[in-house]
Amino acid sequence: MLAREVLQELSECLKSCSLCPRRCGVDRTKGERGFCGGGMLPRVASFHPHFGEEEILSGYRGSGTIFFSGCNMACVYCQNYTISHFREGVEVTPLALAAMMQSLERQGCHNINLVTPTHFVPQIFEAVDRARQEGLRIPIVYNTSGYEDLGVLRLLRGLVDIYLPDMRYAREESAVRYSQAPRYPEVCREAIREMFLQVGNVVLDEEGVARRGLIVRILIIPSLEEEAKENLRFLATEISRDVFVTLLRQYRPLYRAQGFPEIAHLVSDRTYREILEYGRSLGLHNFILQ
Ligand code: SF4
Repeated sequence: MLAREVLQELSECLKSCSLCPRRCGVDRTKGERGFCGGGMLPRVASFHPHFGEEEILSGYRGSGTIFFSGCNMACVYCQNYTISHFREGVEVTPLALAAMMQSLERQGCHNINLVTPTHFVPQIFEAVDRARQEGLRIPIVYNTSGYEDLGVLRLLRGLVDIYLPDMRYAREESAVRYSQAPRYPEVCREAIREMFLQVGNVVLDEEGVARRGLIVRILIIPSLEEEAKENLRFLATEISRDVFVTLLRQYRPLYRAQGFPEIAHLVSDRTYREILEYGRSLGLHNFILQ
């Protein structure tokens, strides 16, 4: 299928929004908004070179990060809640978005890192297409919380170079309680299978920066350590023992987390080490610790 046809098919999803597993069915072309609050124009909170991502993404010139406002998840512990829940940011046209990508490449960034892109996929990839036609060469990183529609992901085949999904929960009960995300475990696993089919394991360039591949982020949430282990088992047995896994210890009980005593604290060093050792015992060996 030609890129133009793909873009057309993605845009069709906006008429009765089915861009993500929530399938709100609102007509975003007529100004209706669903769970994520996204309208017709992508909303951007900030864009800049980012040096705090995984080293294989930030390299030494930074990852060209574009933060989108709004989110299709509703995590009670969200660290970026002013952007995701309160939707701080400004609406931009795909033309302006393409210009941001070009600017990040001119600044020397190693890649374009689309943070929380799910609810603006048609508009974002219209911008990517435009920027590519005008010479954008660096890889596109799709940085997502993992609540993705399989059909939409299949349309992105060949358009995304690096997938960077979170795996947050292994049990639906937790996904509903903390993120209002029914079916998250199965949806996220299906999505990761598709991402791996598309891009495979990480390929580094001569400078040690990722050109292509899948990097899965496991967010360790207090009291959900067993779910983190379950997700590691899934990766080792159903994806690849060579898959790159970022073990995130950046969880902080922010936003509304204090209302949930079992997650209202930090993850201990001991728990973090135990999960890492467990992952290694499964044969996973490409860990990024941050
Ligand atoms: S992208 Fe937004 S409006 Fe569309 S289905 Fe998902 S949450 Fe609903």
